[in-house]
Amino acid sequence: MDSRWTRCNNCRRILYKQDILDNLYVCPACNFHFRISARERLELLYDNGEYELYDEDIYSTDPLGFKDSKKYSSRLEEHRKKTSLQDAVLNAMGFMGGMKVLISAMDFSFMGGSMGSVVGEKITRAFERALSEKTPIIVVSCSGGARMQEGILSLMQMMKTSAAIGRLEEAGIPFISVITDPTTGGTTASYAMLGDINIAEPNALIGFAGPRVIEQTIKEKLPKGFQRSEFLLEHGMLDEVVERKHLRSYLICALRLFLNLHP
Ligand SMILES: [Zn+2]
Repeated sequence: MDSRWTRCNNCRRILYKQDILDNLYVCPACNFHFRISARERLELLYDNGEYELYDEDIYSTDPLGFKDSKKYSSRLEEHRKKTSLQDAVLNAMGFMGGMKVLISAMDFSFMGGSMGSVVGEKITRAFERALSEKTPIIVVSCSGGARMQEGILSLMQMMKTSAAIGRLEEAGIPFISVITDPTTGGTTASYAMLGDINIAEPNALIGFAGPRVIEQTIKEKLPKGFQRSEFLLEHGMLDEVVERKHLRSYLICALRLFLNLHP
């Protein structure tokens, strides 16, 4: 197969790559939403795909000197090279439908989008910038949860980000959470579920613990589609499931409502 063709992991059909790209990285045959990078996400959401990045000078320092099969510090170095990202989130400012909006977009390709102290700090700074500049903020989550290589320091980010959201709420600044596949663990248990509205892309895996752990704990078989967007919507955990092709217009509409702008 030459490189212009690829197989959809979901429906197994052979597809022309350009057709998937033209369709915002969604399978034209089965509507499967492929995972996209933080940069692709920002381009897709902002007017003309234009934005400015902030907080690019924050680095993890491996405060615990953690080592598993590899040193955490070398793992970080590797991912920085591989992804050209400093860590698993990008903070950006730009316009959506002419409105100034901050977006923090997470990137799964950097250590599974795990939330360590840099991710927590960047997201908190984005919330603080939203507060001081009275600008609405969107966080696009895509994360395996807290970063185990940073132990308690990563868990502390749940509290820090949640406190910052509390201050935003008091000031009446809108925060919309967009949850994408997958969003689990400490990310779900903090900012991803604390938006004024929480919306998700179709069929995204969203949960705290994985299904196997839950089944072993409660000793019951879990229902079909458990921890997927549609199931969560049906059970009141989400406000809406929005297809990627409608996401930008949905967010613009929601922001206009929050900001009380006339249509
Ligand atoms: Zn497909």
